[in-house]
Amino acid sequence: MGSRTLPAVSAPTAERSLVLVKPDGVARGLVGQVIARLEAKGLRLVAAELRTLTTEVAEEHYGEHRERPFFGSLVEFITGGPLLALVVEGPRAIEAFRALAGATDPVKAAPGTIRGDFALEVQANIVHGSDSPESAAREIALFFPAL
Ligand code: ADP
Repeated sequence: MGSRTLPAVSAPTAERSLVLVKPDGVARGLVGQVIARLEAKGLRLVAAELRTLTTEVAEEHYGEHRERPFFGSLVEFITGGPLLALVVEGPRAIEAFRALAGATDPVKAAPGTIRGDFALEVQANIVHGSDSPESAAREIALFFPAL
């Protein structure tokens, strides 16, 4: 038997995502559980900051929802107290974190997901995670311009 060469498999490319533990998650003391879940999954923390958003930053962050009826209420909610902004990194980090977060509507989110386990309301749904590489780049630049 000759030696065999394994097919070349490219190393997984690290991707970054912006994750927020929203003000409801911080107020309810869920920061530790969210971080534990994403670290257990294998995502690595690259940046972390507790801060209260200005209306301007909140409107920029949720700009794609500007025309939606819930936009004003969403901005009020997300600026209503401190949130924890994180940048996480890992292979397919964007998709990986959204799978951990679960569906936007926590009632529809599967048990075992963050929203499925900890929330009942569509607005106060504990976490945000970037939904595409383009959004991740925009959101990381908005929250952590030095990265
Ligand atoms: P996701 O956060 O899962 O990417 P969206 O981008 O659709 O979801 O919405 C952004 C955020 O806006 C949601 O996480 C939630 O906090 C809020 N939101 C979405 N839909 C509604 C709604 N119908 N009423 C109130 N808030 C909403």
